[in-house]
This record gives sequence, C-alpha cells and structure tokens, in this order.
Amino acid sequence: MVENEGRVALVTGGNRGIGAACAAALAASGDRVAVASRGGEAPDGMLGVRMDVTSADSVDKAFSEVEAALGPVEIVVSNAGIVRDTLMLMMSEDSFRDVVDTNLLGAYRVAKRASRSMIRRRNGRLIFISSVVGLSGGPGQSNYAASKAGLVGFARSLARELGGRGITSNVIAPGPIRTDMTDALTDTQREFLVAATPAGRMGDPAEVAAAVVFLASQGAAYVNGAVIPVDGGAGMGH
Ligand code: NDP
Repeated sequence: MVENEGRVALVTGGNRGIGAACAAALAASGDRVAVASRGGEAPDGMLGVRMDVTSADSVDKAFSEVEAALGPVEIVVSNAGIVRDTLMLMMSEDSFRDVVDTNLLGAYRVAKRASRSMIRRRNGRLIFISSVVGLSGGPGQSNYAASKAGLVGFARSLARELGGRGITSNVIAPGPIRTDMTDALTDTQREFLVAATPAGRMGDPAEVAAAVVFLASQGAAYVNGAVIPVDGGAGMGH
C-alpha cells in the first residue's frame, strides 16, 4: 500500500543488505529514496549518492546532492556499519577506532547534517540501526558492541534535544540477519547465533525494514527514544 506522498528519505549503506531492504520498503510505501554508500550502485528508481560516513565533508556533499535533486531530507536511516571482530586482548586501537568512527561517529555526522533542515521544518525521523549485541555484548565484538550501545545513548539524547521540534529519534536493534556481514561468518558462528535465537533462524533484511517503515510513518509520531528489537527474541525485548 502506498501511504506517503513523496517524503524524501536517505538510507546510509542503502546499496545492499539491511539498508537496501529499508530503501526498498520506504520506496514501496511512497517515499522518494536516496541511498548512500562508498561505492555501491543504487537500486533502480532510487537516487544513488557517494558518501563515506567517516568524513563530515563527504556527508555534507552527499546531503547537498540529495537536497538539490529531491529536496530536504525528512527521514534518515543511519544504517552504514562495519565489523572488525576479534577478542579484546588481540584488538588493535585502530580496529576499535575504525568501528566506532563508522558506526557511532558516522551516525553523529549524518544526524547532525540531517537535523539542520529537520529543525527548520519542524519535522523529521532519525532511525538508527544498532544491534542486539549493543545491549547484550558479544565475545569478539567489544568494539562493535560499544559502538552499537553508544547509538542508544546518542539517539535518546537527540530525542530529548529535538523531540519538541517534531523530530523523533529511535533505534532498531536487529538480531542475526542474513546479509554479506553474516555471510562472512563461519557455519559454526552462524549456528551459535541461531541457537541463541528463540525464532530458531536468522532474520531477513525485510523484517528489519518493516520496523523502519513503522518508525518513519505518521502513526509513529509519538514514538521517541525507543529501542525496537527485531531479533527473533534473542534479546528478550532488550
Ligand atoms: P553489510 O555489510 O551487508 O552492509 C554494510 C553497509 O554499510 C554497506 O552498504 C556499506 O557500503 C555501508 N558502509 C560501511 N562503511 C561505510 C562508510 N564508511 N560510509 C558509508 N557507508 C558505509 O551489512 P548489513 O546490511 O548486515 O548491516 C547493516 C547495518 O545493520 C549495520 O550497521 C550493521 O551493524 C547492522 N546490523 C546487522 C546485523 C546482521 O546480522 N547483518 C545485525 C544487527 C545489526 P559499501 O557498499 O560502500 O561498503
């Protein structure tokens, strides 16, 4: 069902995986969607822009490009993320820094740029893709879990700062989802994740996208500072 009238949405890391599913679902519900990535191709019918979330300049240029082509961005799905898994004792500072720089500082750069026009228009939806691991922790993922936990405090702070301006700021915490990121795991690692998930399976990117469409909808105007798990029960509501 097409319910929106061409609101402008931008999805970081929207060229593949969870981001691509979010972009497709928003487009299907009537939004005009731009997808941002470092090098990937945009799906048909969507505007593709180059953006490296580790650079404020790159984020700014990509937003300007979207604004020129489609108009002010009203919905942001901050989805770009990386992993550099290893046990903490083996983890280099560079690996910790890279993950935080992309997953947490990247979300800050994007939200800061996006909120400018949202504040002026007194309307906006900031949606951050965190992870169940940000709340429960994960062996070999201290950098990733720290970055994803950081998103919760960040988003909730924005909910308090911007809630009075018609802007909501919410977090989705997916469990294990079938994408390139989890394809890189070993079978044993995937079996471990599925065993910890009451649903007994990995999730589909479209299942995360459904929650994004809800948070972006008019019906979610009074949902702010929430963390919505889409994890097959792995986090038991946390
Ligand atoms: P993928 O590895 O399939 O895709 C990652 C996306 O992020 C790509 O589009 C990639 O773009 C983009 N990206 C990475 N670094 C940057 C950067 N510096 N600037 C711009 N874009 C960047 O991951 P998933 O689809 O699996 O994950 C999407 C999000 O969901 C991530 O934040 C991840 O942490 C989170 N998540 C994933 C889970 C899973 O099980 N898959 C579970 C919980 C959370 P490019 O093509 O340019 O590399």
